[in-house]
Amino acid sequence: MIEVERLSKRYRGAEAVRDVTFRCAPGTVTGFLGPNGAGKSTTMRMICGLTPPSDGAATVLGRPYRRIANPGRHVGVLLDAAAQHAGRSGREVLALTARTVGVEQRRVGEMLEAVGLPAKAARRRVGAYSLGMRQRLGLAQALIGDPKVLILDEPANGLDPEGIFWMRSLLRGFADRGGTVLLSSHLLREVEAVADRFVVIAGGRIAAQGAKEELLGDA
Ligand code: ADP
Ligand code: ADP
Repeated sequence: MIEVERLSKRYRGAEAVRDVTFRCAPGTVTGFLGPNGAGKSTTMRMICGLTPPSDGAATVLGRPYRRIANPGRHVGVLLDAAAQHAGRSGREVLALTARTVGVEQRRVGEMLEAVGLPAKAARRRVGAYSLGMRQRLGLAQALIGDPKVLILDEPANGLDPEGIFWMRSLLRGFADRGGTVLLSSHLLREVEAVADRFVVIAGGRIAAQGAKEELLGDA
């Protein structure tokens, strides 16, 4: 469960996010949609305790993210796939995450396989990865602690159509097992097939939200 209550963020007078309220329930995928600069990343960073809100509050699994003990065991976060440690190999990055989260190292190989990063690629420096490979690695990091909630900022960026199809079934399966997913995109077509609900943000404000059938009709 994710609960966002009247979140706002001002940067030196400029309003990046204004009065954003929504909920994400277990068993659902919420598509967080809006053009670049709309306020999606700022909202997700506030949910994850990385950007302090100017007003409002957010909780994940009933408490502020920063009060969750060992958050990697409960909440999988992928906020900026391009920011991974460029000098380490994918396997090393994931091994570090496994240690931080406190799961067995054998999970590393399992997760690399689950996200479709072949062993050979996992030995290469992350700096040499395409954005799509970084997204796969980031998803492996987010999933390694077997969390109940996933918060993913533009995870489809850089994925090819096959990758988007793969991610769609992964996230659908995660939600169908009772997980909660918040997934941002600036492109409706990247999320419309996987999301049950949409929260649409524009200019820092909620423009619309509701179930897919309500917003898109029976398409
Ligand atoms: P999105 O994720 O939808 O592309 P962002 O949340 O990144 O949107 O940005 C929302 C607005 O806030 C943009 O106008 C952006 O330039 C601004 N913004 C984001 N981060 C900062 C920051 N650290 N300082 C100042 N302005 C920021
Ligand atoms: P995205 O589109 O993925 O949200 P952005 O390009 O908007 O990414 O932002 C990338 C980073 O730069 C983020 O950490 C954001 O907070 C920061 N940022 C964005 N806009 C500004 C800004 N106007 N001033 C300072 N930092 C910014």
